[in-house]
Amino acid sequence: MKQLTTTTNWENVEINLPSGMYFAIQEHMLSCLENEQFGVILAGYSYAQKIINKKRHDFLRLLGREYIIPTENDLDYAHYTGVSLTREFNNRILKIAVKEKLCIIHVHSHPFSSGSVEFSAIDDHFEAEEAAWLGKNFPIVILGSIVVGKNSLAARVWNLSTGVPKPVNVSRIVGCDFPLRIINCNKTSSSESLDGMHDRQVRAFGKEGQQLISSLKIGIVGLGGTGSLMAEGLARLGVKRFVLVDADRVEETNRNRLLGLTQNDVHNRSFKVSIARRVIRQVKTECEVRMIRKNAATESATSELKTCDLLVSATDNYYSRLFLQTVCEQYLIPLINMGVIINTDGEKIIDAFGDVQLFLPGSEDACLLCAGLINMTEVNRELASDNLKQMMTEQGYIQNVDIPDPSVRHLNGITTNLALEIFHNLICNFKEPVLSLSYNMLVNSIEQCIYRKDNHCRICGENGVTGLGDTLPLTYYFNNSK
Ligand SMILES: [Zn+2]
Ligand SMILES: [Zn+2]
Repeated sequence: MKQLTTTTNWENVEINLPSGMYFAIQEHMLSCLENEQFGVILAGYSYAQKIINKKRHDFLRLLGREYIIPTENDLDYAHYTGVSLTREFNNRILKIAVKEKLCIIHVHSHPFSSGSVEFSAIDDHFEAEEAAWLGKNFPIVILGSIVVGKNSLAARVWNLSTGVPKPVNVSRIVGCDFPLRIINCNKTSSSESLDGMHDRQVRAFGKEGQQLISSLKIGIVGLGGTGSLMAEGLARLGVKRFVLVDADRVEETNRNRLLGLTQNDVHNRSFKVSIARRVIRQVKTECEVRMIRKNAATESATSELKTCDLLVSATDNYYSRLFLQTVCEQYLIPLINMGVIINTDGEKIIDAFGDVQLFLPGSEDACLLCAGLINMTEVNRELASDNLKQMMTEQGYIQNVDIPDPSVRHLNGITTNLALEIFHNLICNFKEPVLSLSYNMLVNSIEQCIYRKDNHCRICGENGVTGLGDTLPLTYYFNNSK
């Protein structure tokens, strides 16, 4: 992956913040209305550039990793219209940024601004000066800034591709909170008009949430029994932009559950993503659908997935699940995971569950790994070579791996609908946050589960990957993926 520098040309920027950070910033900034407040976000980044039809499309998202509030000793002075930090404080921040290849986002308040807040001429002057200095001495350190007024905020990132510092306005700030927080900073962007199609749900769940749903880009990994239903369900709810990832082609045994699958598709051995795209387009022709006919843990799938606003894991593969959980924490994208299992003793069903989890990056809640929902023995089995698998089976380490798991449409349907409800609630906030639901088919119950976070977790723990984005290459995953 190419190292991003201040001279890389980009035109669109977003900022994603881990769970709780937006609130912490607001609280700090508005804690005192006498003096300007100042803080620093150290941020990773997510960058992608593509040429589609000879036109360049660039994507840059800064990813909040840590919010630092200077102490009184770090300030030279602070008053109503200005703040000055000590050279020691600035050096300390810069040192971390250079070492960890992070971006620096300055955050300050304009306590005197009550309408729509803007950067002042003084802000322009000092930030441009600093951006030019950084560009000359530490070109990998990107400088951004956020100004917080009483009722609004503005944000920008400094670009040096033309040799002179130029501020690029941040179009959107996303907080991975419940409900999902999306702040459109672009004053010119008019809110989208609502479709008659959603009239009946808007009557209960509201206009605002509906507009948010239609602005989201959602990645679904796995377009089989649950993924195909999820694709259709999200399109019905109003999602218009999709990234679909699945390397598989359909086969005869998919016909009992895969939505939209015809006999002809089986005959043609169509890709699962193509069927799902057809289903989505049948709901709404204008939907934008990117299809990736590869496994999730590949560079091409990741470059699309990291541009999404939410990812759905509908795969039966533990390795993909582990990979997706890592991507979500690293790129600050909420994750919805679905899992369906039917166990038999050869004659009758012993248990049957449909489980759904919502994970918000940076939150105090357990990720799939520390919740114990990713079976590492299974991950190793999936990665093992065929010879090794046979040996492990013979020696009783793993069970016979080639017996397919049972699967049925009604259990997939209930599970997917619970996932859709959790998604809808995350956006429209119509009830208390629900993070995890488990449907037990044999006893007809739906229960909420609570998992304890492990602070040493290598994904979501204190030394985890939160917000590191492109600064932490995923080549390890790509190399192991088959
Ligand atoms: Zn200012
Ligand atoms: Zn974890």
